[in-house]
Amino acid sequence: MEFKFSEAQERLRKELSEFCGAPRTQDIVKEIESQGDLYSAHSWELYKKMADSGWLGMQWPKEYGGQGLSFEETGILYEVTSYYRVPIRGYTLTSIVGNSLAHFASEEQKKEYLPKMAAGETLFCVLYSEANAGSDLASLQTRAVEDEGDYVINGTKIFTSLGHISHYGFMAARTDPDAPKHKGISLFIIPMDAPGITVNPFYTLGEGRLNEISFEDVRIPKKNMVGEKNNGWRLLNKALAVERSGVVFVAAAQRVFEDILSYVRDKGLGKDPVIRQKLARLATELEVVYLLAWRVIALQSKGLIPESEAAMSKLSSTESSQRVTRIGMEIMGLAGLLKSGSKWAELAGRMELSYNSSLYLTIAAGTSEIMRLIISSRGLGLKPVYMT
Ligand SMILES: Cc1cc2nc3c(=O)[nH]c(=O)nc-3n(C[C@H](O)[C@H](O)[C@H](O)COP(=O)(O)OP(=O)(O)OC[C@H]3O[C@@H](n4cnc5c(N)ncnc54)[C@H](O)[C@@H]3O)c2cc1C
Repeated sequence: MEFKFSEAQERLRKELSEFCGAPRTQDIVKEIESQGDLYSAHSWELYKKMADSGWLGMQWPKEYGGQGLSFEETGILYEVTSYYRVPIRGYTLTSIVGNSLAHFASEEQKKEYLPKMAAGETLFCVLYSEANAGSDLASLQTRAVEDEGDYVINGTKIFTSLGHISHYGFMAARTDPDAPKHKGISLFIIPMDAPGITVNPFYTLGEGRLNEISFEDVRIPKKNMVGEKNNGWRLLNKALAVERSGVVFVAAAQRVFEDILSYVRDKGLGKDPVIRQKLARLATELEVVYLLAWRVIALQSKGLIPESEAAMSKLSSTESSQRVTRIGMEIMGLAGLLKSGSKWAELAGRMELSYNSSLYLTIAAGTSEIMRLIISSRGLGLKPVYMT
């Protein structure tokens, strides 16, 4: 068993750490944190620099603008940027779509979309959820109807992260309303400037902006369908598993943990036996979830789609993130509640920001209950009642 990064990967980690820790990068991070909306944070300046350094799309083949590297390099990118609080959500969403395209799209689609993603020129949002289709995504009602060589889209998507700044959306829509609900779904690439699209903001806990996006007779060419018609559900499940490695959450939680540790040292709280017990438990837990996240990445790097393992990692990393921020709040008491910019804020108000931002992690991209459902059914072979 060889359990270490290669020399080239260590070099990449070092370069990324230098970039993320550089004064200009950290100035931008502070500016973003002071606005309090981590969820829709994006910096085009940093994004272009990352693209110019060849860090976007590393896992895609060279002919599509990538570098033919594995998911491991992308895992390092996620880990280091998250640790330094550099906004990376625009890329995680775009690369979820890119990874799906690399797996399932036509040659023409790969050539059209992947190079621009890798060059940092385009962002993609994910248009799956609807008001009555979140966990039960197969109940989605947005319709795509064939008409004179096009598809005409009608419906409303909600919770769309970064929908207001994305160039394209990756949409799941119903193409056969008469088929069983899992069987009549197809996937589409939607240009977000197409006539008939309306983007409305709504705000979640932690002041993060999400969007509700309505589609009224939006016409897109037939060539924008990804994969086979009515076969979207199968692709969607694989795409979701590729999305879940958990390393982003673990790295962010590790940074919050280190902040708590420095606070405890500064305030001379390190002799308190209760605090010591809590911190020792968190340190152990973070080590475990880190290894789990990297196990998923290692499997993905071999071209596998580890559904149950990815669900375990998403579940444990997001729940750990919440434990870290909750214990941080307990240790800091009232000081932890103060926002960035407040005169008395400790840790520049980052505990309040991290606590609020950790709450939705166990909901976005599949709730904890759904992760347990995947682990029990696909991992343990225990089919729920409605599958038997
Ligand atoms: C911050 C944030 C960002 C998001 N970004 C996007 C995005 O970019 N694109 C997108 O398409 N969507 C996005 N979502 C939507 C997200 O995927 C859904 O919120 C999630 O899938 C849950 O769906 P729901 O909110 O409709 O809750 P519901 O599905 O209504 O669930 C309600 C509760 O019931 C539980 N539950 C549901 N079914 C079961 C079951 N079978 N067994 C046990 N318990 C169950 C759930 O765990 C949950 O606790 C985002 C959500 C958040 C919070």
